[in-house]
Amino acid sequence: MARSSTRKGKVSIDPKLYQSSMVQGSYFNRMLDCGPVNRMAEIALAYLPPRVLDEHKERLAFVCMAHRDGTRLAQRLRATREIIVLSEHALPDYNSHEGRRDFRYFIYIVLHETAHAIRKHRSPVYDSLEAEEIEDQEKEADELALQWFNAHIAARANPHLPPLTREEIAQAQARTQKIMLDRIGGA
Ligand SMILES: [Zn+2]
Repeated sequence: MARSSTRKGKVSIDPKLYQSSMVQGSYFNRMLDCGPVNRMAEIALAYLPPRVLDEHKERLAFVCMAHRDGTRLAQRLRATREIIVLSEHALPDYNSHEGRRDFRYFIYIVLHETAHAIRKHRSPVYDSLEAEEIEDQEKEADELALQWFNAHIAARANPHLPPLTREEIAQAQARTQKIMLDRIGGA
């Protein structure tokens, strides 16, 4: 069961929800397959509203490729979870932190892809979506990610963690676009 109710009818959050991925069998341990980046992914997932994470804690999986040459996604995994694959070039530096732009963009990506997953967005390719439908889905994922990010930041009221803006996201995307073009040679 994803969550339980108290006598007053309020939803209570599973106390083990945020247990470290280093603990065998914890929710994060089963959810995260990002090697040395697992800890950063945990921080990113903590930006989700607790109820959203609690509801989907056994339905999401994050896979990173920076620490391996290849991987096979097992049938059991594919059948039970939405799988989000994170690009190596979008991972933060190993010693980065939440106040830095690379880390903030990484968090944004995790939230954006999670939004696609939990809203059950359709595949542009396999569902043959029209351009307008793709755009609507992207807009919804963007808005949810920004909303989650900034609600989390507001609740912490840490002066070193300013709200995320669309401008900051666009600048980060320009940086990753350049990395991608450099790597694949451009068209
Ligand atoms: Zn998207």
